[in-house]
Amino acid sequence: MKLVLMGPPGVGKGTQAARLRELLGSVHVSTGDILREAVQEGTPLGRKARGYMDSGALVPDALMGELIGERLGRGDAGEGFILDGFPRTVEQVAILDRVLGRLNLALDGVILLTAPESEIVRRLSGRRVCPSCSAVYHLENRPPKSAGVCDACGSALAQRRDDTEEVIRERLRVYREQTLPIAEGYGSKGLLREVPADGDPDTVFARLKAELEG
Ligand code: AMP
Repeated sequence: MKLVLMGPPGVGKGTQAARLRELLGSVHVSTGDILREAVQEGTPLGRKARGYMDSGALVPDALMGELIGERLGRGDAGEGFILDGFPRTVEQVAILDRVLGRLNLALDGVILLTAPESEIVRRLSGRRVCPSCSAVYHLENRPPKSAGVCDACGSALAQRRDDTEEVIRERLRVYREQTLPIAEGYGSKGLLREVPADGDPDTVFARLKAELEG
């Protein structure tokens, strides 16, 4: 399946995308993960993207277009993909259409995960991530077995640089103003399925599966 997973920051896109990848065998393409890796490695892309990411702003569409064109152009995406964090603007929807058209691929669906803003702020401020394997934890909901250490690979957990209260507020504003409007466009194409993302990851995944099967 070729899916887009949408929703505000912190709604659980990464967690659900990882589960979907296991279920469907599709590749998981997280533009946020790709950018963070580029920043960590200090590549030209990472150097250009860092300032935007640290302030909660979006990385310019042209740069994102190059990134997604290159990633989806690799052979593995033809079998199926889960796009997590892309597209995020009206222009990126057009970019995605062009890239998919060139590759002779079409989207099967767009899933919009939703949750109240108070819940999102709570999730983001308690979120901890593994810089090595990208596993995601939460101080209250999903603590690691040993405090501050990744269960999967043993690396020290970290807080994302953009998970501070001020930047969280800016990311939510950007989401409301630039990203949420694109859901409407997908809705009018009959592609949009809305899934409430309150509750634990198992509950949300069960809803998601039911939506995909229905
Ligand atoms: P995420 O992990 O998806 O929340 O992304 C973290 C940050 O990476 C965002 O706040 C943006 O600065 C940047 N980013 C990720 N995906 C995109 C995108 N599709 N367009 C623009 N910026 C993006």
